[in-house]
Amino acid sequence: MMIKPFDDTYFMKKALQEAEAAFDKGEIPVGAVIVIEDRIIARCHNLTETLNDVTAHAEMQAITAAANFLGGKYLKKCTLYVTLEPCQMCAGALYWSQIGKIVYGARDEERGCINLNTKLHPKTKMIGGVLAEEASRLLKRFFVEKRNLN
Ligand SMILES: [Zn+2]
Repeated sequence: MMIKPFDDTYFMKKALQEAEAAFDKGEIPVGAVIVIEDRIIARCHNLTETLNDVTAHAEMQAITAAANFLGGKYLKKCTLYVTLEPCQMCAGALYWSQIGKIVYGARDEERGCINLNTKLHPKTKMIGGVLAEEASRLLKRFFVEKRNLN
């Protein structure tokens, strides 16, 4: 039997590690990695508190880091793995990047791009639900702990 070492679950685990790093800093735990040809070229996590910047979502930083790595602004051959469904801002930035594929973990019914009908680039494929349980468990734990601190 052939086992593919680098599958969606493998890379989503890397994104989850980033989300955990955010958690440890007191940031809303969302992590992202960008992959090209089975190689991670960007790994980032939410830093909106640390940077005092509402645009410092994991995906926004990952887009910039991947473009810097590739030396070009388009990410057509790349896949983004992100632990939470992208918001409107990130979906908009991903539109401009023309990213090939988006794989997200947990759904964000309230602020995610799906329910808000944010357009992705016509060539971008998106799938969700990869390690969704793990991603949402971490988010829930964050908000429970935060509530208990206040
Ligand atoms: Zn976002």
